[in-house]
Amino acid sequence: MLALCAGSFDPITLGHVDIIERAHALFGQVLVAVGTNSTKEYLFDYEQRMELVRGALGHLPGLKVEPLSGLLVDFAREHGATMIVKGLRFASDFDFELQQAHMNQSLTGIETVYLPASKGYVTLSSTIIRQVSKLGGDVSGYVPANVLEAITARRGR
Ligand code: ADP
Repeated sequence: MLALCAGSFDPITLGHVDIIERAHALFGQVLVAVGTNSTKEYLFDYEQRMELVRGALGHLPGLKVEPLSGLLVDFAREHGATMIVKGLRFASDFDFELQQAHMNQSLTGIETVYLPASKGYVTLSSTIIRQVSKLGGDVSGYVPANVLEAITARRGR
């Protein structure tokens, strides 16, 4: 079964890696969709975010990483994804995700499967990584090695 994991991944964190690895173990195949939201200001551009996702997850056989444009449910259908897989952290994730899952299900019938965030990553988000790294903090415990390298390279510029 092909599981679809979508996000902006700015940048990919160990929390994302954990969810994608677990989805891969459960469902056998994973497609990662890297989206862009025009109202957001990004730390890494689109190409960089895709490259960082590929670099962080290269150990997963058959993993695909594609740019996301348009509706997630259309993207899922075009790529033959069986379900959407999401990580759930706090109750606030749930409120938002339930709304999305209901809308997606009513649009095409696609189901959303939730995996609980692993203990060590429950409070981890790309947003907090961007904030801490912009101010020069050490994020090495929270991001894959290739992301740490990219963050360090940006600082050196
Ligand atoms: P963020 O919410 O960190 O800015 P994204 O928009 O890229 O990241 O999130 C994509 C998906 O990854 C969402 O389903 C979100 O719930 C999940 N996710 C993000 N961080 C974590 C984490 N630390 N643990 C589990 N799931 C996560």
